[in-house]
Amino acid sequence: MSRIAYVDGRYVSHRRAGVHIEDRGYQFADGVYEVLAVSSGHLVDEVRHLARLTRSLAALQIPTPMSDAALGVVIRELIRRNGVTDGIVYLQVTRGTAPREHAFPKSAKPVLVVTSRRRRSADPRLAEEGVAVITIPDIRWQRCDIKSVALIANVLGKQRARVAGAYEAWQFDREGFVTEGTSTNAWIVTAAGEVVTLAADNTILNGITRLAICDMLRTEGCRLVERPFTVAETKAAREAFLTSTTTELLPVVRIDNDNVGNGAPGLLTRCLRALYLAHAAEVQ
Ligand code: PMP
Repeated sequence: MSRIAYVDGRYVSHRRAGVHIEDRGYQFADGVYEVLAVSSGHLVDEVRHLARLTRSLAALQIPTPMSDAALGVVIRELIRRNGVTDGIVYLQVTRGTAPREHAFPKSAKPVLVVTSRRRRSADPRLAEEGVAVITIPDIRWQRCDIKSVALIANVLGKQRARVAGAYEAWQFDREGFVTEGTSTNAWIVTAAGEVVTLAADNTILNGITRLAICDMLRTEGCRLVERPFTVAETKAAREAFLTSTTTELLPVVRIDNDNVGNGAPGLLTRCLRALYLAHAAEVQ
């Protein structure tokens, strides 16, 4: 089946889909995006994803292209047309097309693009054996809470991880505190059994998967502590893991070539992964 994309009001062939060369997303990275998972035909945490989209748009003063209800209809129609039951929806809104000038154009209308694809089955070894991360300086801007398409620092960081043979790069700030991965949130479990992740401020994206894990930890009565943690602390951690919509929850077993714990996925990490997979499979 040939794939279909939704581009600025129309369902079009994915292969021929395009926007204007003066779309401000293309010239200025002047836009925001969301990635949602489709699990057994339903959208995982749709309400939270659409709320974050609204927040990102408001932060950039881009008008919302349509209501959440209408957006839900477009997304469902697109996944139906693409025959996606387990996969990913990518959604992007830019400020629109206008002659190139930095200041907001007077007449541009936001351009919404939605694509979806079946989930490529992840290598089961990633979850079974865990993944390696490297640590790198965080060179991003001061509004990482906005899910902006300006991802070049993240792209460069992920590439550094790939070149180093690692799965992800955990970024650290000037004081040596870990902020987050290039496309995932970062977590450790301390020797004292606290589950630690940075509180959602302007230095990280408040992951929807992160929020779901926070909910689970509270429900399960685990000790969740949202606070800064250093690179040195990650190396002394009992367990570590990363979360995102596309990776779900993966154990981190090596940080800069040092083993985390005994170098195998931790017990709590495995338990949380199972809980998250059950959450994603649930019809909400
Ligand atoms: N941090 C960054 C920088 C990301 O790009 C992502 C994924 N978009 C995340 C965290 C995880 O967010 P989510 O759980 O909503 O996918």
